[in-house]
Amino acid sequence: MIDSATVEKIIDAADIVDVISDFVTLRKRGTNYVACCPFHNEKTPSFSVSPSKGIFKCFGCGKAGSAVTFVMEHEQMTYPEALKYLARKYGIEVHEREETEQDAEDRLKRESMIAVSEFAAKFYADALFNTAEGHSVGLSYFRQKREFSEETIRKFGLGWAPSGRSFAGEAAFSTLPQAALKAGYKKEFLLSTGLCYEHNGELVDRFRERVIFPIHSLSGNVIAFGGRTLKEDKTVAKYVNSPESEIYHKSNSLYAIYFAKSAIAREQKCYLVEGYADVISMHQAGIENVTASSGTSLTSEQIRLIKRFTNNVTLLYDGDSAGIKAALRGINMLLEEGMTVKVLLLPDGHDPDSFARSHTRQEILDFLQEHEVDFIEFKYGLLSSDIEKDPMRKAELIRDIIGTVAVIPDQIMRSVYIEQCAGRLGMKEDVLFAEVARIRRKKIESGEYERRRREEKEARYAAAVEDRDAGHDGDYGAVSTAGNTSSLKPVPLLDPAERELLYYLLKFGEYVMTFDDHQKYGAEAPVMDITVAEYISAQLSDDDLELHNPLYKRIYDMYFEIRSGLLEHDDGVQGDPESLQGRIIRSFVNSMEPDVTAMVLDITEEKYVLNVKEYVRAQIPERNVIGRNVPKAVLVYKLKYVEYTCSQLMETLRQTQQDADTESQQDVMHRLKLLLQIKNALVKDLNRVS
Ligand code: ATP
Ligand code: MN
Repeated sequence: MIDSATVEKIIDAADIVDVISDFVTLRKRGTNYVACCPFHNEKTPSFSVSPSKGIFKCFGCGKAGSAVTFVMEHEQMTYPEALKYLARKYGIEVHEREETEQDAEDRLKRESMIAVSEFAAKFYADALFNTAEGHSVGLSYFRQKREFSEETIRKFGLGWAPSGRSFAGEAAFSTLPQAALKAGYKKEFLLSTGLCYEHNGELVDRFRERVIFPIHSLSGNVIAFGGRTLKEDKTVAKYVNSPESEIYHKSNSLYAIYFAKSAIAREQKCYLVEGYADVISMHQAGIENVTASSGTSLTSEQIRLIKRFTNNVTLLYDGDSAGIKAALRGINMLLEEGMTVKVLLLPDGHDPDSFARSHTRQEILDFLQEHEVDFIEFKYGLLSSDIEKDPMRKAELIRDIIGTVAVIPDQIMRSVYIEQCAGRLGMKEDVLFAEVARIRRKKIESGEYERRRREEKEARYAAAVEDRDAGHDGDYGAVSTAGNTSSLKPVPLLDPAERELLYYLLKFGEYVMTFDDHQKYGAEAPVMDITVAEYISAQLSDDDLELHNPLYKRIYDMYFEIRSGLLEHDDGVQGDPESLQGRIIRSFVNSMEPDVTAMVLDITEEKYVLNVKEYVRAQIPERNVIGRNVPKAVLVYKLKYVEYTCSQLMETLRQTQQDADTESQQDVMHRLKLLLQIKNALVKDLNRVS
C-alpha cells in the first residue's frame, strides 16, 4: 500500500497534458487540447484534455478521467501500478506502507489463535468420550439431564474440560495446557484466546471441570467456548465464557449460526432463543433455523448477521419476566434494523429447551405458527387487561406502540402497522400518522438516522475485513436472501430522478440550504439549515430508499466516505463549501475506479437543455436556488420510487391472480392502496413547491 501523502504528491505532480502526451499526440485548441481518441477508432478528434481541470474526456466513446485513470486504462494497469508508473516519471519516492508486515503479523496471530481453539475443541470432545471423568460427569449430564443424543453431542462438538486429577481409579488425564504445550502450541495463544490464565506461574484451564459448548464462527471455525459447571455450589459461576479477543467479538457472534444459517435462509425465518441448550434441543428436534445471543443481550451487529440470511425473526423466550424484558428490548432493536419481528413467550415453566424435548417436531412447528404474534399484539396483550377502563394506561400504551412504530425504517411497513394499530386501539389513522412523523422528524434533526447509517456501513466493512482476515470461506455469499440489495439493477423509470439527485449532491452537496418559507415546504423542510448532502441523506434514509442503479449507489456511498475522510483529516476545508466541494470532486476524479470517475464527470459536466420555464431560473445562479430545487428533486425521486413500487406490485398481482391466491392478493391490494395514498400526498407536495 502506498501511503496517502505519497498518493497526493503523485496526483499533484502528474500534469495531465504531459502524461497523455507520452501516448497520444495532442493539439492545442483554445484552453484545451484535442486528439483522436486512443480508446476507440475515429477519424475526427473528439478526445479532449482540460489542463485546468486535470481531466480528459472523449465525446465519442464517453471515456473520461484523470491522469491516473488514463494510465490505468491505456496501459491496462491497476491503480497502484499506475501510481508507481507516475511516481517514477516524476521522480517521487514511493513509501510502501509499513503495515503490510503488521497486517501479516496480525493475520498469523489470528490463525494461531484459531488453531489452538480448534485443538482445544478436539481435546475437550476427546476427554468427554474417552476419560472416566468425562464419561461419568460430563457425558452423563448431556445424555440424562439434557437428553442430547450422541449424534447431537458430536455435531455441536460438546466436550468436557478435565480436572487433571485421577478419577475413579483412572490415572490423571492431562489438562488442556499440558496437552497443548506438548503438541507444540504456544503459551502466548493459550493466553490470548483466554483458554488459559496464569496462576502462580502456572497455566490453568479457564474451563476446567466444566462441560464445554464450543462457539463457531459463521464459517465454522471454533473461536470461543462456553463452559457450564455441574457443581451445585452457588458460589461458582454457572457459566463461564471466553473473553473478547482478536478472534472472538461477543457482540457480533451468534451461537450455532454456522449450523443454522442454511436453514434460516431456506425457511426465510430465524428463531432467536436464549441459550446453548435451547438451540441444541431445537436442532435435535429437527428445527434448525434457531440461534442464540448467548450470554449477552441482542446487539445490532448480531441482527445484521441474521439479516444476511433473512429479514424475519421470531423471538422465542420463556414466559417469565426476564423473557418479557428481553423480548421488549429485542423488538425495538430488530425493528430499527428493518426486520420483521414476531414474538412468542412459552407457557409457564417452559423454556425452548424443555418445550422442544417434550414435543414432536410437528407439534412444535404448529405451536410456533399458531402462537407467534407481531409486536403490536404482543404489547397490547401485556397491558390490555382493563385497559379500556384506565385512560392513563391506554395513553401510555399508545405512546409506547407509536414510539416503536416510529423506529421502523421502511415507510410502507410503518403505514401497515399504523393502520393495524388504529384498528386495534380504536384511534384515527391520521392522528397516528402525524405522531409517527413528529417522532421521526425529531430523530432526523438530532442526527440519529445519519449516525445509524454510518454505523451500519462501518459494521459491514468490518465484517468483510474480518471474513477475509480470518481466512473464512465466505460461503454465505452463495445464500440468496429475500431483501438482498446487491441485486439492485438500474430501472429506467428511476434512472433520471436518481441522476438528478446525484447531480445536486456532487455539485452542491456541501452548500447550506436555506428555507425561507417553511409553510410552503411543509414536511420536506427541516427546521434548521443543513447542507444539501445532509438533507438528501436524511430524506433517503428516512424512507429507507436506496439508489437502484449500482453505479449511482456506489457514487452516492463514496461521496459520504470521501466527505467524512476530508472533514476528519483537513481542517482547512471546514466552513468553506466551495473548496470542500472541489476537493470531493477531485477525489472522485482521481479515484481508482474508472467507471466512477467517468460517471461523476458525466453528471457534473452535464449541459442542461433549458426549456422556457427553466430559462428564467437560469438567470439566477443555480446555487442560490438549491433550497427550492433540491427538495423538488427529492420529491420527484420519491414519486418515481412509489410509481416503480406500484408497477412491481401490479406485476405481483397479475401473477397471484393466476394462482388464485386470494390472501396474498388482498395483501398486495392493501399495499397498493397505501402506496396510492402516499403518491397523492407526494403529488400535492410537489405542486406546492413547483
Ligand atoms: P438449569 O439446568 O438450571 O436450567 P441452564 O444450563 O439451562 O441451567 P439457565 O440458568 O436456565 O441455565 O440459563 C438458560 C440459558 O442461558 C443457558 O442454557 C445458557 O446457554 C444461557 N446462559 C445463562 N447464563 C449465561 C452466561 N453467563 N453466559 C452465557 N450463557 C448463559
Ligand atoms: Mn435452563
